[in-house]
Amino acid sequence: EKLGIALVGLGYYSTDLLAPALKLTSNCELRGIVTGSPEKIPAWKTKYGIKDKNIYDYKNFDSIANNPDIDVVYVVLPPSMHAEYTIRAAKAGKHVWCEKPMAPSVADCEAMIKACKDNMVKLAIGYRCQHDPNIQAYMKVGKERPFGKAKMISSAAGYFDGRSDHWKQSKKLGGGAMGDMGVYALQGARLATREEPISVLAQASTTRPKIYHEVEETMMFQLEFPSGALAACHTSFGINMNHLHITYEKGWLKMEPHSSYNGNKGSMSDGTLINFSIQNQQAKQMDEDALAIFNKTDLIVPGEEGLRDITVLEAIYKSAAQNCAVKL
Ligand code: NAD
Repeated sequence: EKLGIALVGLGYYSTDLLAPALKLTSNCELRGIVTGSPEKIPAWKTKYGIKDKNIYDYKNFDSIANNPDIDVVYVVLPPSMHAEYTIRAAKAGKHVWCEKPMAPSVADCEAMIKACKDNMVKLAIGYRCQHDPNIQAYMKVGKERPFGKAKMISSAAGYFDGRSDHWKQSKKLGGGAMGDMGVYALQGARLATREEPISVLAQASTTRPKIYHEVEETMMFQLEFPSGALAACHTSFGINMNHLHITYEKGWLKMEPHSSYNGNKGSMSDGTLINFSIQNQQAKQMDEDALAIFNKTDLIVPGEEGLRDITVLEAIYKSAAQNCAVKL
């Protein structure tokens, strides 16, 4: 038996990554779509055999509660819409998978977690990298400490986005480099240390003020961890970069790339290579999240993990706005 998945929002990530990946899963089946763009429906019906009764728009979406074909609602909308659709799906009694960044505010994340708890459904965040054995390899080094404690981390994730007039440039829709790519730089530092930051110092900037005036094009942020470990993190919509460098007491670990869809790889100071092959990251993510639902076991990335990042993200924005360090 497979879990029936409904994708909400049929943009780039749903179309190019998640729907094709669902075809590669063992435990999931794409059965439904929720869209505000009726012109997209015929292509999805043809390609994925979606039944008419499993197609919803944003208005009639709540009636998905009466549809036994759908077990999981996967929210793949701009970040400012994540809370509303997660809460509506939870109230409809459906498990929720929600894309990153979880939501623009801590209050939103807490409301999402509460709605899922109250309605006894699971909430997973789409941090595909935590399902990738290459990322799990450096997480393990952080936990088992073969090189001692992490002392200094350099973590970067960004790409050049040449578009204008996109939600990623809109404050209201939850845009900005920090939520989009910065969470990968932040995850790199948090997963390397396995600690939560106690202080942040951040600086936002833009080289294209015509496009990036509501939100940052680039964010640089420093993190201080309870053990004394420090991280220098960078994210941008103007620079292609994707690396993680961890200096431990007695060695180092480097990943490049560290948060791509495929090809994440690295090496350690003792000569160990990190280079696991993986058929499809998103398929692995969704199969593992489906198994957690079937077996009633813990999710690899529950809502609480999304909330931890947004807690730091709020402090980063506060620091950048006030031009001073913010304690957590
Ligand atoms: P996109 O712009 O390509 O798609 C967004 C979809 O939302 C579109 O279908 C659009 O029609 C719909 N939408 C509904 N109301 C809208 C509104 N008011 N404004 C704009 N669009 C609206 O974006 P995307 O790249 O597919 O990103 C969607 C989500 O997926 C985001 O949360 C993003 O961070 C996440 N994402 C995650 C990954 C990953 O690797 N995990 C990769 C890409 C995107």
